[in-house]
Amino acid sequence: MKTHIISLNEDTLRFLLEGVDAAFANALRRTMVSEVPIMTIEDIFYFDNSSLIPDEIIAHRLGFVPLATDLDKYVLPEECDCEAELGCPNCRAVLTMDVEATEDTITVYSGDLVSEDGGPAPVSTNIPLAKIAHGQAIKFEAYAQLGQGKIHVKWSPVSMCVYQNISLVPITDMKAVTECVEICGPETAIIEGDNLKIINIQSFESCKKCRDTVNHDLILDHLQQDDYLFTVESNGALQPQRIVSEAVKILKKKLDTLVKKIDADDIHEPISDFETPEIDESKLYRVGSGDYDDEEGEESTEGGI
Ligand SMILES: [Zn+2]
Repeated sequence: MKTHIISLNEDTLRFLLEGVDAAFANALRRTMVSEVPIMTIEDIFYFDNSSLIPDEIIAHRLGFVPLATDLDKYVLPEECDCEAELGCPNCRAVLTMDVEATEDTITVYSGDLVSEDGGPAPVSTNIPLAKIAHGQAIKFEAYAQLGQGKIHVKWSPVSMCVYQNISLVPITDMKAVTECVEICGPETAIIEGDNLKIINIQSFESCKKCRDTVNHDLILDHLQQDDYLFTVESNGALQPQRIVSEAVKILKKKLDTLVKKIDADDIHEPISDFETPEIDESKLYRVGSGDYDDEEGEESTEGGI
């Protein structure tokens, strides 16, 4: 297996993954999408919400505000020793909001969230959450915790994570191909001996000169089944390269478990049912501070998203 970084900026990493089959490439992709944890808001206590937007809608919006995550500082709540419902400083962070429109109508932004003691802060401060008119206010305390995308997509660290095959086309007209490569750059295609390695087929074909030089069917005929261009776009919670390295760690751990099980000949567990995550149904309808006629007839000020 070979990897090579094609480009890296603040939120997007493109790299080549060569010499693995689609099952492995997809395992890596799925681990990035649904298992690499990030911090996001989960529980909210409202002290005041006199805006027109219901508590649960604001809660839902807050869950999708990416928070810059320090993976070395927090542990997953289920792996924390505290076992407290709302967690401890090792497994949750507190953010507060205290906004009131004292004169005109104002927009409440993600930047109005105040994080406690260097905790996770919103990656972007200008995500609109609500508009409040004169006299209205939004005040709450929110608890963020680590989680995984397989539980809820708000915990997925990527806004995009895809791979595509690359193509290795034999060169017939070296002069034209050389010009092509110069125009489109090494992120799109490079010359490797007698072949043109088309790294990004979509961007290659969006250039008229390249499209005219190398026929579309030729590109498809020479797709490399075991070589991929990965594109990982972070939502900002983690650096894209950290997402990949964390995914590799998780995958390695799983494979170690598998190896141990094979060595111990412990691989004959019958698969009975597919696991479904347990959902606390009472939490689904108990967001906010209002009175709710739920089945237990309880009043509650806590809520999940
Ligand atoms: Zn804890």
